[in-house]
Amino acid sequence: MASSIIVRFAPSPTGTLHVGNMRGAVLNWLFARKMGGKVLLRIDDTDTERSKEEYAIAIRHDLAWLGLLPDLEARQSDRAAHYEAAAEKLRAAGRLYPCYETEDELERRRRQAQARHQPNVYNRAALELTAEQRAALEAEGRKPHWRFKLNRKPVVWHDEVRGRVEIDTSSVSDPVLIREDGRFLYTLPSVVDDIAFHISHVIRGEDHVMNTASQIEIFEALGGPVPAFAHYPLVVAADGSGLSKRIGSLGVAKLRDDGLEPMSLISLLAHAGTSDAVGVHHTLADAAESFAFGKISRSPIRFDEHELLTLNGRILHGLPYAAVAERLAALGVGGGEAFWLAVRGNLTVLPDARKWWHIVAEPIDPVMEDPELTRMAAEILPPELDGDAWPLWTKALAERSGRKGKALFHPLRLALTGQGDGPEMKRLLPLIGRARALARLAGERA
Ligand code: GLU
Repeated sequence: MASSIIVRFAPSPTGTLHVGNMRGAVLNWLFARKMGGKVLLRIDDTDTERSKEEYAIAIRHDLAWLGLLPDLEARQSDRAAHYEAAAEKLRAAGRLYPCYETEDELERRRRQAQARHQPNVYNRAALELTAEQRAALEAEGRKPHWRFKLNRKPVVWHDEVRGRVEIDTSSVSDPVLIREDGRFLYTLPSVVDDIAFHISHVIRGEDHVMNTASQIEIFEALGGPVPAFAHYPLVVAADGSGLSKRIGSLGVAKLRDDGLEPMSLISLLAHAGTSDAVGVHHTLADAAESFAFGKISRSPIRFDEHELLTLNGRILHGLPYAAVAERLAALGVGGGEAFWLAVRGNLTVLPDARKWWHIVAEPIDPVMEDPELTRMAAEILPPELDGDAWPLWTKALAERSGRKGKALFHPLRLALTGQGDGPEMKRLLPLIGRARALARLAGERA
């Protein structure tokens, strides 16, 4: 039987994807893939002033780079007729009512409530207006905005992450669903679409918990089934110093341009803030295998860039040449598989390969720590530099020079690579080649 699990990732195209909102994407995809369900990418572009097509394009592009491919896609700007129909239904049921307060009036009330240390819950004054009063306000040129009339009762749901949640909607203002210019705010379109696309689970950040109480009432008022909810905690910096601008806004595009592996980001976001240890996954399916809502911690997730880089290195260390050949070529790195196998264990991000390519294939200044040793070494350098050359050569050199251990290997490495450490010399030497090795051992730039 086909799975009835359908989730949605619903970014507003008012910016690009960043670590802060990416966790939502990752959790939605992991759950869907684990359950054999589907993901809807919903572009929440009802805010026509702030939404931009270029952001919608960038979000799709970033998700594709991460390997998060939606099974279906919708955009709210195409669906206004559905929202109008739902609004009509709510009006007919007496749940959507016109209000005429201006922004200034509402702001004044907010300040008064604050001064009296009272919660700022809308007082429903508009419900008291007579037909004549409304007509008079409209004659003045005032246009209504529309509020949803809450039940003012406890709403209870079992949150997949937070457990039992109870919110009394008498503690919140009737939400504005339609602005006076006729545009819909996010609240109603989201519910209408969740019903229309048979969304089974709404997985989103805990900043939406209060919305959920209102939206459950809207689901019920529209006669739609209420989906399951999972509200995950937000991302904070590794030191716990609150939502960090830098980390929270660390863009996916920037990480891609830095040469990061998408699976290191997925692996980190799959496990950070869960009861699992952070580990490496090579595929989304593999990461999905270990997903469970019950593992998601209720405390904020700590996003650590160092951890990300460590994971990235671990992923690179296991990648076969075929997986990176094209990207290496684009970085101007040659040397084929032999080069890749030599250096992959020393990389943190793929572009680090450029440094080692430069060292094996372009002139460098050797560092001469022990000129006597390196002169001797040049004299007995084997004619063929294959994979076995290094151990044979250094064994012979040890006998001849009486040096061993660090005193033997370190000056050779410094002369041949200009570096104090790096990939195995056994693999680097054949790549450096005989002519260049001889020149470097003699202290020449080569
Ligand atoms: N567009 C909303 C946001 O980005 C979606 C919230 C939701 O998932 O319902 O906050």
